[in-house]
Amino acid sequence: MQAQSQGLTPADPLPSSGWVPQDATELPQARQALEDAAGLWRAMIESRYVIKVLIDPDDGHIVDANQAAAEFYGYPREVLKQRHAWDQNADMPREALLALFADFKTGRANRGTEFLARHRRANGEICEVAVHLDLIHRDHRSLLLATVLDITERKAAETALQRSEMRFRTLFAAAKVVMLLIDSTTGAIVDANAAAAAYYGFTLGQLRGMAIGALNTLSATEITAQIHQAAAGQRWLFHFRHRLADGTLRDVEVHSGPLELDGRPLLYSIVHDITDKKAAEDALRASEERLQLVLEGSSDGFWDWNVRTGEILFSRRWAEMLGYDQTEVQPHIRIWKQLMHPDDQQRSRAALHAHFAGDTARYQVEHRIRTKQGEWRWFLHRGKVMARDARGRPVRMAGTHTDITERRRIETALRVSLVAAERHDAQMVALNRMNERLLSCETRAAAYAAIARSAGELFAGFSGALAVFGEDAGADLQVVADWGDLSILPTTFPRGHCWALRRGEVHEVMDPTRGSHCGHFADPLPFPSLCIPLTVRGETLGLLHVGARQTLTEGQFADLRTLAIAVSEAARLALSNIRLQETLREQAIRDPLTGLFNRRYLDETLPRELQVSRRRGEPLAVAMLDLDHFKRFNDAYGHEAGDAVLRAVGALLNASLRAGDLACRYGGEELTLILPGTSLDAARERLDGLRRAIMQTRILYRGGDLPAITASVGVAVAGGEETDATALLARADAALYRAKEAGRNRIVADEVPVG
Ligand code: GH3
Ligand code: MG
Ligand code: MG
Repeated sequence: MQAQSQGLTPADPLPSSGWVPQDATELPQARQALEDAAGLWRAMIESRYVIKVLIDPDDGHIVDANQAAAEFYGYPREVLKQRHAWDQNADMPREALLALFADFKTGRANRGTEFLARHRRANGEICEVAVHLDLIHRDHRSLLLATVLDITERKAAETALQRSEMRFRTLFAAAKVVMLLIDSTTGAIVDANAAAAAYYGFTLGQLRGMAIGALNTLSATEITAQIHQAAAGQRWLFHFRHRLADGTLRDVEVHSGPLELDGRPLLYSIVHDITDKKAAEDALRASEERLQLVLEGSSDGFWDWNVRTGEILFSRRWAEMLGYDQTEVQPHIRIWKQLMHPDDQQRSRAALHAHFAGDTARYQVEHRIRTKQGEWRWFLHRGKVMARDARGRPVRMAGTHTDITERRRIETALRVSLVAAERHDAQMVALNRMNERLLSCETRAAAYAAIARSAGELFAGFSGALAVFGEDAGADLQVVADWGDLSILPTTFPRGHCWALRRGEVHEVMDPTRGSHCGHFADPLPFPSLCIPLTVRGETLGLLHVGARQTLTEGQFADLRTLAIAVSEAARLALSNIRLQETLREQAIRDPLTGLFNRRYLDETLPRELQVSRRRGEPLAVAMLDLDHFKRFNDAYGHEAGDAVLRAVGALLNASLRAGDLACRYGGEELTLILPGTSLDAARERLDGLRRAIMQTRILYRGGDLPAITASVGVAVAGGEETDATALLARADAALYRAKEAGRNRIVADEVPVG
């Protein structure tokens, strides 16, 4: 991949005004800047770190989205692909977006291909984004490629940084310190930031691809050796001479460390110019008077220590850096002990002793010092014994003090951003695995097990549970899956006990001492927790609960929320899919008019029922029921009235069933009843009750009662050895025929004797 196309920083030339807004009032300038930076977008589009969404311009449907988009919007890619552009846009409704897309597709809109918008994320957050739209063609379709750049994060680079590499790149570009990214294999500069370009006097375009040797006065072999050390993490602090574009040589101190981006082994280098500081140190040796002048003008603090008496002289700058007036600082070495961070004292002392003993050429240590305002700041503290007595004991030592808080912050942030990116990748893999597992589930029980397993992986270190509503209307929630070692939810609890279900929104308790707890916890939780309702098309299926086992920082809690929402999305989609499948299966075996099973189901089931009865040595009765003179009824009252009768008879049959009985619509107005474990006499008795009930049923139709209807029934019983379903049905049918013959509204049993 070309360095240029990585989109690490804006491509040259950099628009002078900066290309993203610092706040909302700068939006018009930002728009201008965006238009200036046309080349930047080309580079961005190539990068996998940039949010990309493919949209069908005809229906606004999100056809595809990359991993960065999934991360940004907070939905797994599969979920994102079920959404529409307007689901993510906080300002433009469906019609407006479709109109915009149509303009694009027809070529009416070619201006304003880059614009600013506000996009919505899964957690409800609204983000300022810059969007670039491109019309592309894929599979004979015209699609819109939206390249989205999150610019809210520019405003809050520090928090944003902890989230992803992309934001690292933003910080990299925006950092005031000079930064280089170097390919540790070739020694080529992969990228540099604006501060580097300004410092070296080259354009970014010139810097990218340039060998680091072009800047460094060391020989190529020496540079390779140093790069190896830095890449292996053996050494992170280097002193070089760097050559600027105008040929000037500068002394630099370089902090360098390994970094992997795009799978490439890189080195980051943060470059500090220490030419002035070196001059100061040289001057120290020359003349104290001159030295003072130099030092007061330097950005570093200076100290001069009389080792014997403990007296120490601090420069004005030294005091200022700590927020003190020079006169407020006690001129004694014990002030170190008072102001230095306790965790850093031992390290500092060890470094000092090593230098006193002559083990090190100079004393150098990084430590935290408390400012007057009570804030800890990092300082690079360097010094050298300037005079020793006849026995070699140090008499006088002097040195400098540099505030390196910003550099430490960036280094930590870099490390954090990489750790976060790695963890995020692992989560994405686990989420995808969960979705795959869920896809292969055919029953709810299997889905619950898959969710429990994946949630256990995803929420390692947390406890949680999935609860769903029971089958009956108004039923309580039942816990169907849980993970972690704390079982915090009761096995069943009413809807009203959960805030998330009552309000229909995520209920989070970040601070357990203050948040309102749901009533479903046996004891109030001591740690942060979340309840997320699982809702599909307005219907609540259940609840996902996740609880921490320790206190969390705000950032950790936000991460937990994002992950929990992603898991709840996956769970809710899978569960609703399985329910849909169940409904479809149900529809395939049920007759919609009567609510009874259909003929297909009867054909599948009767042989099985016969097998079961045979194994048990029990009888099985089969009845064929046919409405009397139904054709006439239809002719007199209409087909619709006939349907009402069929519906009523179906309901009556369903209501009269006992466990194990089956009622089917055989066809037309012919119904079949299967009564396992029922003898002929018992069947006759039950069926006669049913016959009378049909006769007595009042069927309301168009505000009036329809006349009473009667039915004829033929019944046959399978003996212990009988397994031929067709023959059995034929016998029941023959009996029915005889019932009709005999005058209808009666029950006739198959004449073949049972047994
Ligand atoms: P019988 O007493 O001999 O059974 O007389 P019948 O008129 O009921 O005769 P048969 O069973 O042969 O007629 C079936 C009639 O049932 C024909 C049709 O008009 C009616 N039918 C069948 N299916 C439906 C249906 O889904 N809705 C309505 N309204 N009528 C149906
Ligand atoms: Mg009939
Ligand atoms: Mg019939």
